[in-house]
Amino acid sequence: MKSLKENFQKAHIVIIGSGIIGKFNALELSELGFQITIIDPTQSQNSSNAALGLLMGNMYQKRRGRSWDLRKQSIELWPQWITFLQKFNSELNIEKPLIQLTTNEETFKKLKKFVYENNNQNLQILKKNSTYLKSINNAFQTKNIKGMISFKDGRINAKSLLKTLDKYLRYEKINFLKEEIINIRKSNNQWISTTKNNKKIKSDMIILCNSLKAIDLIDNLSHNIKLKPVLGQAIEVDVNDEEVDLLSLPKQFNINGTNIIPKSKNKLIIGSTDEYSIKPEENTFKTLTNFLDKQPSWLMHATISKKWYGIRSRPDGEPSPIMKNLGDGLIICTGFYKNGILLAPACSQWVTNEIKNYLS
Ligand SMILES: Cc1cc2nc3c(=O)[nH]c(=O)nc-3n(C[C@H](O)[C@H](O)[C@H](O)COP(=O)(O)OP(=O)(O)OC[C@H]3O[C@@H](n4cnc5c(N)ncnc54)[C@H](O)[C@@H]3O)c2cc1C
Repeated sequence: MKSLKENFQKAHIVIIGSGIIGKFNALELSELGFQITIIDPTQSQNSSNAALGLLMGNMYQKRRGRSWDLRKQSIELWPQWITFLQKFNSELNIEKPLIQLTTNEETFKKLKKFVYENNNQNLQILKKNSTYLKSINNAFQTKNIKGMISFKDGRINAKSLLKTLDKYLRYEKINFLKEEIINIRKSNNQWISTTKNNKKIKSDMIILCNSLKAIDLIDNLSHNIKLKPVLGQAIEVDVNDEEVDLLSLPKQFNINGTNIIPKSKNKLIIGSTDEYSIKPEENTFKTLTNFLDKQPSWLMHATISKKWYGIRSRPDGEPSPIMKNLGDGLIICTGFYKNGILLAPACSQWVTNEIKNYLS
């Protein structure tokens, strides 16, 4: 411990799980000079690859408590990280603004009150004659969609972000092991992570970023941590109507809780479902397109061109996410449910501070 104190940057940290949270922690810690090993058997099925990448921070209506603090921090930190990561991918960006819409009068009243009470230039109620609202009402053939706009929120393309982080990690020559960890234990002041192939990896600290599987590696009875799976599906649809131009719509918006991202003149991404299961339900098209009482005919007749899902982990009995120092150099940072992309920078900052405190 003393030698670590003298030169904590030489400490070796194992990160289990390589979704957005594992990768982001690796980025921040490696920038500080720590030796990092990330371990993950497969990234193709993780929830991060399924994410739509919406960053709903500033429009979050509960303005106090931990969830708000994390959102606020992330919204402040994201632009700095984007500037940093643009060295590895100049196209990486946060597409702003983000629009939240409703057809429900009560919900709209609450939005108005929220915007009024916050008196913030970055949050505004959309005026009836706004071009955003006009294009949405026109495309969805309604008159009653209303809502607010947040100029500080937006969307980051999650796949592009993950690829950029991979590029950074390769550039920095961060160790990556394609293995599954089946056991962790502490022996002689060192952590030992054992893989399914019986490899033993020694480290000074471990960060658990492996979602639902994190609890298999800890004594969850003594830590009393429970996570449950929440499956989320998203679809890309082709609109077969020459008169519709989806590019006339805002870049990203949410109507009555459903996220919508126009991709081209006739392609739309819609997501995501909230299924308390690990098996995807079948009627995804209906679930994801019934966000209005009456759908426009172009949406009713649209066809699915892509469909995907991810399994998110949600803490059971406590708020999301789980960010705990379990002591002795073991940290758990998982259970991000719907907001892992948004919260990655704030959570990795928290982990970094915990590590600095532990090693100093
Ligand atoms: C359809 C959909 C849309 C979403 N949209 C958004 C959005 O718009 N905005 C937003 O902020 N969030 C969104 N999310 C949520 C977001 O994707 C998650 O919160 C986030 O990806 C969680 O990241 P993670 O790194 O904790 O977990 P994951 O990405 O699931 O990664 C966990 C990793 O751990 C690995 N692992 C598991 N067990 C082991 C083991 N024993 N050893 C080694 N490795 C292991 C897995 O292989 C996996 O790669 C969405 C999710 C879905 C499904």
